[in-house]
This record gives sequence, C-alpha cells and structure tokens, in this order.
Amino acid sequence: MNLHEYQGKSILKSFGVAIQESVVIDAVEDAVSKAKELTEQTGTEWYVVKAQIHAGGRGKGVVEETGSHGVVLAKGIDKVEEVVKGILGGHLETAQTNGVGKKVNKVMIAEDVYYPGESEPSEIYMSVLMDRDKGRNVIMYSTEGGMDIETVAEKTPELIFKEEIDPRVGLQGFQARKIAFNLGLSGKAFKEMTKFVSALYASYEGCDASMFEINPVLKTSDNKVIAVDAKVTLDDTALFRHKEYAEMRDKTEEDPAEVEADEAGLNFVKLDGNVGCMVNGAGLAMATMDIIKQSGGNPANFLDVGGTADAARVEKAFEIILKDDNVKAILINIFGGIVRCDRVAQGIVDAYKNMGGIPVPLIVRLQGTNAEEAKTLIDESGLDVQSAVLLQEAADKVKSILS
Ligand code: GDP
Ligand code: MN
Repeated sequence: MNLHEYQGKSILKSFGVAIQESVVIDAVEDAVSKAKELTEQTGTEWYVVKAQIHAGGRGKGVVEETGSHGVVLAKGIDKVEEVVKGILGGHLETAQTNGVGKKVNKVMIAEDVYYPGESEPSEIYMSVLMDRDKGRNVIMYSTEGGMDIETVAEKTPELIFKEEIDPRVGLQGFQARKIAFNLGLSGKAFKEMTKFVSALYASYEGCDASMFEINPVLKTSDNKVIAVDAKVTLDDTALFRHKEYAEMRDKTEEDPAEVEADEAGLNFVKLDGNVGCMVNGAGLAMATMDIIKQSGGNPANFLDVGGTADAARVEKAFEIILKDDNVKAILINIFGGIVRCDRVAQGIVDAYKNMGGIPVPLIVRLQGTNAEEAKTLIDESGLDVQSAVLLQEAADKVKSILS
C-alpha cells in the first residue's frame, strides 16, 4: 500500500525520525490559519507548499489548470494562499503519472528547511528496501539526492552506496557511522546522520514497510539531518497488525477496478492487453499470461480467484474483467485441486446466465478433480462457451479468436 508524503512522514516521526514539519489542508480557506499554526510550532515564516498525490516528480510536475509546479515556495504568510490556489484542486502531471494529471485533493504546507546559514544545505538520497536476491534489507544512499535516482544509477553508478543488514543482528552502530562517513559528513552532521539512519531503519522494520524512499534527506545549513520527502510503501500482508495504517489507504489514488476486486477478495492487477484471464493460484495465473502472450495476445489482467470459485465470485470476476473495453476474449483456466472442477463449471454457467451472457468469446479450461464432469457441464449448458482440455488447446483458441 502506497502512502501520501504527509502520512509517511507522520509514521517516520512516530519512530523518532527527524522530518520537515508541516500541516495538511484540503480547502484554500484553511491555508493561512494552518500556516500560522505551523509558524507557532516551528518559528518559520517561509513555507513550501507540496501537492499530495501518489507520484513523485512533483517539484518538476505542472498543474494543468494553473501552470504551477507541484512543489512551490511561499516566502511569507502573504504568499501562502496564492500558492495553495495554484495547486489545490488542480490536476498535477509529473514524469510518474503516465500522461494524465492526478487530482490534488490535499496539499501540505511545510516549513522551508533550505534556509541560509553557516554551511550550504545539501540533498542526500536514501532508501530502505528488501533485496530479494540476498534476502536482506538494504539501505541505499547517495550524495546525489534531490534528483531522479534512476539517472544517477545510469550515469554515475559509483555514487550509489548499499549497506546490507543482517537480519539476525539488525542494523549495527558501525554501519550507521559508515553511511554518515561515506556521505562525507563530519561533526554535528555526522552524529545527526547516524541517529537519522538508526531511527529510519527502526521505523522501516516497526511499520512493516516494503519500501522507504527519502529523496531528499536534507543536511541543513545548521547541520541538522531531516527527511524532506517521504515515499513509504507498506507491506499489505502485514496491515492486519497496524489498523491505524490500514486506515491511511487512499482509494481515490488506486485503479477503481483493483479497489473493487480487493473488496471482493480477488487478487487482481490490471494490465493493458486484450485477453482477460480468470485463474486460480498465482503460479497458474503467471503461466496463463505467458501462454496468452505466446499465442499472439496480451493479458488484460492478472486475476487469481483463489480457492473458492463459486458463481458469486466468478460473476464478480467477470464484471471486473469486462469493465475493460480492451478485452476481446476471456480465458478461464482453473486447476481443481481442493476446489472441484464441476462446481467451478456450475459457477461459470450460473454467472453466465445471471449476467445474461458474456459479450466476448469465452474459453474455459478446467483440469483436475472432476474435470470430465465439468467439461460435460459446460458443453451441455447450451452457452456460447468453448471448452479446452489442454492449455495449448486453450491458447490455440485464443489465437483463432484474435486473428
Ligand atoms: P518530489 O519532486 O515529488 O520528489 O517532491 P520533493 O518533496 O522531493 O520536493 C521536490 C524538491 O523541492 C526538492 O528536491 C527540493 O529541491 C525542493 N524542496 C522541498 N522542500 C523544500 C524546502 O523546504 N525549501 C526549498 N527551498 N526547497 C524545497
Ligand atoms: Mn522527492
């Protein structure tokens, strides 16, 4: 589950990670009064207004309606309202929004932390994630913060450092010091960074995150180290342990079909192909997607109906798949292990009848327990359904439909 910057920062703060302080508003009328509250708390009179959407690149992004960027400085309370107006309620398009502007429902008004002082502020990149090859968490960091890390990785990979954490002992003090050292810090900033890294890692583990990307972490002109941005992804499978985080989910940021599928307990990921698939088990779903690809089609989705493929579930799955106008055929591929194929077949027939038909060709392959009975049920149902026994047969049928 992805979080907004303000939500990510609130989690970081609760674990003692130093952050750029802020307030969040969803109405222009609240801008000035909330900014004043922030001033009471922090003493700041310079602000930075930041669009809250689930996408990075906001600083360079542009609001369609106003031409404003998604992160804008407001140097003085008299500037705040105007800057907020340029962002809030508009549609922000960034390098990460796939060509469409995302509606900005909330903006953050944060303290400007790039104030002048004894040294230059400097932007650092830091992320924490699971390295699946190593089976360990890794802290990735670089002096080249503030910019797109993919560009840094491509042009100057030597400037990206990685620190692996042994899960048996956790992050060690020497590792935090090594990170601060490699970032070229000394004195107060060095100490601040070791504290920052330790708190950040504790936070990553404590909230069951699957990814943290803090870009930039700022070393301020008075040598404090704070998180200026926060991209936090939580592990969905651990959300049951964190009711308060589960409530942070912003469904308006997600694909509506995926939200609906999730509510129905279906594992669904929308893709951009032309063949809808309904499968049980993630492995078989992947194999089915491969075979669709090989037969000249492209999967329109990943859909794992799970262990119970009764009429209600199958019907829901059809509804979700058919929301996508690109779908030219649907391939159902179910292996009856615990679930019996004839029950699934009955589910398909019932759903088909309930829905008054399916507007695209349907190919059904049921294998496993009671597969024979299932095939008979489908063949005798009188419905316009093509049944297949082998996966190759199913693929050939997909091919003939598409060509
Ligand atoms: P992103 O563009 O979506 O990654 O949003 P960020 O939160 O990273 O902000 C984008 C950029 O805005 C940062 O890289 C900074 O250069 C700038 N920025 C963010 N906060 C401040 C601030 O307090 N003061 C100033 N002067 N610039 C800021
Ligand atoms: Mn950023």
